[in-house]
Amino acid sequence: MVVSTTLNYYSLARRRVVPAYIHVERCWPKVDKLSPCEAGCPLYVDVPNFVQAIAMGDFQKANAVVREKNPLPSICGHVCWHPCEDECNRDVLDKPIAIQWLERFAAEKGNTTKPLPAARTKEDKVAVIGSGPAGLTAASDLVKKGYGVTVFEASSIPGGIPATVIPNFMLPGEAIRADISYLEALGIKIHTNLRVGKDFTLASLRQQGFKATLIACGAERNEGAKIPGANLAGVLPVMTFLQDVKMDRRPILSGKVWAIGGDSIAIAAARTALRLGASEVHLACLEARGDRSQPGNIPAPAWELEAAEREGVQIEPSLVPQEFTSKTGSKINGINFKRVMPLTPGVKGKIYRTVRGFPLVEMDGPDSVYSVKADIVIYAASVFQAKRHIPELGDLLGTPGGKGKDAALQVNKDTFETNVPGVFAVGDRSGTGSHIVEAMAEGRTAAVSIDQYLSSQYIIPLKESRVELTIKPEQVPAYLTRKPRWEMPRLLPAESVKTFEGVELGYKEWQAMEEARRCLNCRMCANCIFERGHICKETGRRLLV
Ligand SMILES: Cc1cc2nc3c(=O)[nH]c(=O)nc-3n(C[C@H](O)[C@H](O)[C@H](O)COP(=O)(O)OP(=O)(O)OC[C@H]3O[C@@H](n4cnc5c(N)ncnc54)[C@H](O)[C@@H]3O)c2cc1C
Ligand code: SF4
Ligand code: SF4
Repeated sequence: MVVSTTLNYYSLARRRVVPAYIHVERCWPKVDKLSPCEAGCPLYVDVPNFVQAIAMGDFQKANAVVREKNPLPSICGHVCWHPCEDECNRDVLDKPIAIQWLERFAAEKGNTTKPLPAARTKEDKVAVIGSGPAGLTAASDLVKKGYGVTVFEASSIPGGIPATVIPNFMLPGEAIRADISYLEALGIKIHTNLRVGKDFTLASLRQQGFKATLIACGAERNEGAKIPGANLAGVLPVMTFLQDVKMDRRPILSGKVWAIGGDSIAIAAARTALRLGASEVHLACLEARGDRSQPGNIPAPAWELEAAEREGVQIEPSLVPQEFTSKTGSKINGINFKRVMPLTPGVKGKIYRTVRGFPLVEMDGPDSVYSVKADIVIYAASVFQAKRHIPELGDLLGTPGGKGKDAALQVNKDTFETNVPGVFAVGDRSGTGSHIVEAMAEGRTAAVSIDQYLSSQYIIPLKESRVELTIKPEQVPAYLTRKPRWEMPRLLPAESVKTFEGVELGYKEWQAMEEARRCLNCRMCANCIFERGHICKETGRRLLV
């Protein structure tokens, strides 16, 4: 190992000016590489740079770096499913850096001043319909590019599903408001209680001088079970249930509650039911327990399942409800399930159905039917269809008729242009994703396309061409110190089930700095450590203690 100092690369005069950051930004010429965390983030947030800024105690810089790429850092810092961490090189030593929690910290501690409004350098105005993560990201990028941007939202509050559905104990209201007030200060105008197709049309937007429109209305919903007993009292559709609770209309629940479904929505519902007074909460889903990247396994992330279990939710995998039963004929009091298993070597039986391309086998014998008592069911299976929600084109254009298949917008999934000039459309699951950060990435691509359209350029899809730097376990030198990841301080389960407020409390400053110091700063320092066998004193102070 060679230990030197990066300061040797600089003149004495320069060292006096930039000593704090030189090894963040200027050490070695190979800085055009992407670190894997950056490549893993659909928004390409400059993770190494913001994490290093936290390590050095410069929280305002960390906040500024995050916001260059991510207009909703508070929301993402609470509930992003953080694919960046799956790629983190630190995993070859011990555990990935807690990037998502550090992003939350940067947004909370570094956001000390309101931004100045973005300079209006272009005459054109753009309308964005829908204020969810996709719409707000496009609006933010376009306002930064100098356009006038107005967002039209059907709901009474902006923010999409994060603001109207995701429970406060996962994502508190102040985190959403912090992001939205930052965007409003940048110059985005948001009008609520206005529904396209009812209160305004694409034609009326054109008359108001909007040169381009982005439709970002989220996903189509498919609520309600399609099995016998689905209409019984006590069988609740999940979105209405969660929306009511989010708006402080809280029903009192008692007895045994079953949430049906295997993703984040069902888990949010199960944890909410515990807070509303249920004596027992079960979560039943057709997938098996195991690595979520494998088809056939529960799609919800492991940390959400663990959070639910810590609070007392009982997870019951490999079950498909066949019927909701009632003694009175009006109110539910039971569920009949069928047991299924993923088709793996050694498992035999009739294929029941496929989940994300993976076959599930129907179990035989007396144990194949499982009947339980249930006082309430929250039905949260297959809530979203794999389709964007785009209101009828005839309604949008303000022309009566024109409904049906022929009236649907056709969307280019690389550029999000539609067959109507000047109209673009993005949203939940219109492309690959069903998470906030993917919806945001779609909004970003659409903003690039809209800018190109308004600049009369040919629209070309956005692609990242930088090379990624990944480290293999055999490259890791023994002298690097192994350090546990700082866990998120959170309420004890007995306390958390009593509150609808946030249960994850956020890092204290020293905790965030300690966690950030674990980062290998791959784009810079890891190049030296792993490729040149060299570690400087500044980096050694972080990684060798
Ligand atoms: C309970 C639940 C928990 C979730 N948890 C997570 C999580 O932990 N992490 C994660 O990454 N993702 C999570 N998701 C998924 C995430 O919320 C979505 O992927 C994301 O919100 C999609 O963003 P969007 O902008 O495409 O759509 P949306 O958030 O649905 O926003 C669309 C907006 O358009 C508005 N709109 C609709 N129709 C009209 C109209 N006609 N006129 C004007 N406005 C209209 C809507 O009111 C809404 O505000 C969760 C979803 C649910 C339901
Ligand atoms: S937005 Fe999500 S994926 Fe991107 S850096 Fe933040 S936590 Fe990671
Ligand atoms: S160690 Fe740091 S720079 Fe490297 S991948 Fe992880 S977060 Fe990114």
